Amino acid sequence: MRSSIIRLFAVTAFAFALLSCGANRPIQGIIITGQNNHNWPVSHQALKMTLENSGLFSLEVAVSPAAGEDMTAFNVDFSKYKLVVLDYNGDSWPKAMNDAFLDFVRGGGGVVVYHAADNSFPNWKEYNDIIALGGWEGRTEKSGPYLYWKDGGLVSDASAGVSGSHGFRHEFVLDARNTTHPITKGLPEHWKHGTDELYDRMRGPGNVKDLLYTAYSSPEKRGSGREEPLIFTVEYGKGRIFHIMLGHCGDTLEDNPAMQCAGFQTLLLRGAEWCATGKVTQKVPADFPTEEEASFRKDYRE
Ligand SMILES: [Zn+2]
Repeated sequence: MRSSIIRLFAVTAFAFALLSCGANRPIQGIIITGQNNHNWPVSHQALKMTLENSGLFSLEVAVSPAAGEDMTAFNVDFSKYKLVVLDYNGDSWPKAMNDAFLDFVRGGGGVVVYHAADNSFPNWKEYNDIIALGGWEGRTEKSGPYLYWKDGGLVSDASAGVSGSHGFRHEFVLDARNTTHPITKGLPEHWKHGTDELYDRMRGPGNVKDLLYTAYSSPEKRGSGREEPLIFTVEYGKGRIFHIMLGHCGDTLEDNPAMQCAGFQTLLLRGAEWCATGKVTQKVPADFPTEEEASFRKDYRE
């Protein structure tokens, strides 16, 4: 009798250990970086710290060869990950890596497109289908129409002109366009972002699935005068793609207001969880910015 009770206890304890192990295992992901017209040695650390400090994620980092160097050996085994965070704007990846990345996305993988990752690969059609909107790097009206918010809906505008721009860096307010999506549910409809670039007049196939936040690009700051789509999901294969144009990286981890913004970090965390799992289990944080006041997490944790 006694030994069977001990055995039952041991089996129960083992089952609990297995369950809690499963529940606590962080989501495995990878950040791709190594070339960027931005400060990637700092930005990829800020992304990794924000995601890992939540306890929800464990991130490896793939650092490419430097610009102009031989890329042929650069590859990532995407099958190991639920989440890919793109912090890369540079030379073409080898074809094997392009193909593996497309297989990952089409098969249901999660992708975060962060800031200047939407500048990269202007001539790779499938990549542009994954980001939906891009800018710079020789893009023209042939890359696709503009997309902006006007009179309660998204407008597609094929006119010629600038393909990616931004005015002076400043604090600006994000305006919700979808308050029921798992990523935005419970978040304020308007919140003030830390000093950042406000990307405007981006172009592309425009296959935005769920538009989450826009912001008004004021001509007073040399902006477009349009309400620009800055945070959205993209429809591509079975993949879940979260595109966040915010987060221009500062000089150091300490001087990095766009990425230290609690709003940016919250959206990154919620978007990344949704990409990897299709759900968001995170509560709305107490330090989320208000419409009047930006809020910062200097050490990249809540
Ligand atoms: Zn930037």
